[in-house]
Amino acid sequence: MTTAEVDAVFLSHAHMDHSAYISFINREIPVYCGETTKIILQALGEIRATALEFNVEDVLFRSFRTGDSVTVDGLEIEPVHVDHSVPGAYGFIIHTSNGAVVYTGDFRAHGTKPEMTSDFVEKAKEADPVAVVTEATNMTGASISSEAEVKNKLNRIVGQTSGLVFADFAYADVDRLNSFYRTAKKNGRCLAISLRQAYMLKALRKDKHLKVPSLDDESILIFRKSKKRYRKWEKQVIEEHSGKIVDVFEVSKRQREIVLAMSFYDLEELVEINPKAGSCYVLSASEPFNEEMEIDFERLVNWLRHYGLPQYHVHVSGHIMPLQLRNILKEINARKVFPVHTEHADLFAKFMEDLKSKTVLVEKDKEYKI
Ligand SMILES: [Zn+2]
Ligand SMILES: [Zn+2]
Repeated sequence: MTTAEVDAVFLSHAHMDHSAYISFINREIPVYCGETTKIILQALGEIRATALEFNVEDVLFRSFRTGDSVTVDGLEIEPVHVDHSVPGAYGFIIHTSNGAVVYTGDFRAHGTKPEMTSDFVEKAKEADPVAVVTEATNMTGASISSEAEVKNKLNRIVGQTSGLVFADFAYADVDRLNSFYRTAKKNGRCLAISLRQAYMLKALRKDKHLKVPSLDDESILIFRKSKKRYRKWEKQVIEEHSGKIVDVFEVSKRQREIVLAMSFYDLEELVEINPKAGSCYVLSASEPFNEEMEIDFERLVNWLRHYGLPQYHVHVSGHIMPLQLRNILKEINARKVFPVHTEHADLFAKFMEDLKSKTVLVEKDKEYKI
């Protein structure tokens, strides 16, 4: 018995809008999540050792895989994998005495593993649920694209570039990392990843189900930013992979041979790299969506202007598109649908109005009976 009021927490995936602040949890409460989510959160905890909100030390992680079923206080929870922009994402089917409740987590059908999402939809349908709690992120600005298309576009960009290619992408997005890695390799270049990405990649290699490039691969280099002191985990990567490390001076000399992973926060490195004419910047993440990001974006634009770097935006969303979502919900055919993870629940409700499932618009702090 624990002294806590909560029996367990279930994490669908490792994105911050779902898993941040798990650090503040009472250490007696078990946290159930996929094996990969645990690996990512623990690696992040080491990378961001000084940030309190990333500290997952002593968190009571209990990991599961698809096919497992977890029972908490008589309630059976069935995790089923889904495709998303971070590996190890799950949806849940909660078998209650009043019927099944399905939670989609964040998911999509246009990534590299759409069959995982199909498995989830199939299982959800079989459970004949009374309710589906669904993400509905992309109700505006939807598009038709795929990770495969992203890779093709990247290939065209890298193939035409005579100088250095800068690549800005989310460092736990393994699909995107693979797309850049394969594109670099195909074009006779190396992908130079950050120390942070290298550390994360090393951790993710522990998961045999994931396809991630090895740090020993000849097309992978590790970029070491210029700074006076390196953290413990950074020193570890530098020491273990000394033959792979490149600094600003080496990148500057080998511009035609490299695709350099670089984030908003590494822009000062451009001074020493001094990109040649004909280099370019590929933004391969979502566009700025909040005030803070807009300020950063403005800063990025100024740096790129200064160095004469054109910016390509090549990205595909981690979230399901509206028409696909509608078809999935129609197929699952639950009595009620609760849209969450959206700013457009009212639009969603009208878009789904003719389905047999009734959309319930949720309000904060209100209880809903099924
Ligand atoms: Zn997510
Ligand atoms: Zn999310």
